[in-house]
Amino acid sequence: MKKAITKKPVAAKDDATTKKSKKIKIFNRLRGVRDVLFDEYRYWDLVTKKATDLANAYGFKRIDTPVLEKLELYERSSGKTSDIVTKEMYSFVDKSGEKIALRPEATPGLVRAYIEHGMFNLPQPVKMFWLGPAFRHDKPQAGRYRQFNQLNLEMFGEAGPVADAQLILIAYNFFREMQVDVQVQINSIGCKDCRKDYLDKLVKYYKDKTRHSKLCLDCKKRILKNPLRLLDCKEDKCVAMRAEAPQIVDTLCEPCREHFVKVLEYLDDTSINYNLNPFMVRGLDYYNRTVFEILPVEGSTESRQTSLGGGGRYDELVEYMGGRATPACGFGIGVERTILKIKEKNIPLKKEEEADVFLAQLGEASRRRSMILFEELRRAGIKVGQMFTKDSLKIQLEEANRMGVKFSLILGQKELSDGTILIRDMESGVQEVVDLNKAKTEIEKRLNNHIEKK
Ligand code: AMP
Repeated sequence: MKKAITKKPVAAKDDATTKKSKKIKIFNRLRGVRDVLFDEYRYWDLVTKKATDLANAYGFKRIDTPVLEKLELYERSSGKTSDIVTKEMYSFVDKSGEKIALRPEATPGLVRAYIEHGMFNLPQPVKMFWLGPAFRHDKPQAGRYRQFNQLNLEMFGEAGPVADAQLILIAYNFFREMQVDVQVQINSIGCKDCRKDYLDKLVKYYKDKTRHSKLCLDCKKRILKNPLRLLDCKEDKCVAMRAEAPQIVDTLCEPCREHFVKVLEYLDDTSINYNLNPFMVRGLDYYNRTVFEILPVEGSTESRQTSLGGGGRYDELVEYMGGRATPACGFGIGVERTILKIKEKNIPLKKEEEADVFLAQLGEASRRRSMILFEELRRAGIKVGQMFTKDSLKIQLEEANRMGVKFSLILGQKELSDGTILIRDMESGVQEVVDLNKAKTEIEKRLNNHIEKK
């Protein structure tokens, strides 16, 4: 029985009149967010494929978490005084009065998931691969967006320095295998015990009268609330003052020092380009011991200072968030920034073969038969191109040429009534008539011959 089609002529007419009489508002995307269009997706595929291949090779399993989480999750984990939470997080009260945040970074959600799903019961380490969007209300500029994508690898339940080194190696390999030259900047920020002595020294250094008066307003607050972040400030005068500041590596306790030395020894065994950066602390509360960032080697001075990725250890976070004491470490890499680098370097993308065969049709009856044949070929695993929306054979064959197919199948009215189809070798232009019902086997035979000749 045919379904009744409900028509709404009145509404349609109304729409048309409104369009004529009113100027229609065109919507643009919000500031700092992007549409990923067709060409860009080729880079996306490249980056996500490389990440997936590496994650698989090193035994990390894919996991996803919601974009929306409780605001408190980030306040507690990333830190109430962190820039992410105080300045950049998108948060709101939802319709049931709950305080919600759009994910500004992946780690807190992954820690929540580890605890919530009792993953400490799994064989450790638990190795997660995550890929998804994050949101930060930052000042938009090249490579800095309000919605961007990160890929993260996180390892839970392994305290040994080999975990830190392996993560750094994977992040490094990710870029190297995409021909993007990077350098890893690495530091150790110790544990809460040895950091205490260091913070005393640091505060003393910055409280010196002449220095204190030169600090930016934010840093004056940082001295009181979170002195380690003094080292993170991007203001020129604060950066200059940092040069003489005490270095945390000089005050590491013995276990932290030993851990750091081991990480560096592992790295020395590889060909990783790394550099010790005694002032890198990363802007989040949860890190301890190893912290690292990945910076591009090439590009303008500004772009060389814009990190492509970063990470470190967070041995206390799982317990702090209510789980069992579980050491952990991980990193995040920015997808958009990686793509910008690949484009900047003009690295050619491999052209994906769109199709091996093109199916062209002439006339309504042939089109209907072609649609059935298309499904038959597709199900047999043959990559088929088509343009069933077009009538002109010329346009269809132009598309076949653009796709670079080896053969075109042409079904005209005459062929249809004879029960045949034409196979055109696109290179030689030679055409053959074959039985329409044997089209699949005939094309398979030719494709196989083509491969053998190669
Ligand atoms: P973070 O979590 O801040 O260490 O960031 C890790 C990586 O995510 C950075 O190295 C960038 O590649 C990327 N990233 C961070 N913030 C942004 C942003 N606003 N826009 C684009 N990419 C970003």
